Amino acid sequence: MMATPIANQPRISITGLVKLIRKTEQYEQWKRAVFIRDRFQCQECGKRNGRKRVIEAHHLIEFSQLVKDNGIQSVEQAVSCPELWEVSNGQTLCGDCHRQTDSYPKNFIDTKNSHASKKDSFSK
Ligand SMILES: [Zn+2]
Repeated sequence: MMATPIANQPRISITGLVKLIRKTEQYEQWKRAVFIRDRFQCQECGKRNGRKRVIEAHHLIEFSQLVKDNGIQSVEQAVSCPELWEVSNGQTLCGDCHRQTDSYPKNFIDTKNSHASKKDSFSK
């Protein structure tokens, strides 16, 4: 095999890089290690995979943050950076609980229809 010079690699955004890293075997292995440690059970509500796959691996420290903090600029660097693959940074959550974590992309919650102004003007 010939060694390819990597000097002229184009710079890639963190988001783009994270997407690529999520497709690696290393990432799959990390998820599996987290699931096994947590016995394939949501650590919030105890839900397990049934016929449907519901559990997901949540990062306590956001993955993109780790990539940034460790100065990762390529998939190769990511795969060989042990800090990214700490099982202790993972937590098994079901989809519902995962959605309630801070790092999960939030949807805009519609608060317009709440009956907040329940005035008590007729008291007494
Ligand atoms: Zn749950």
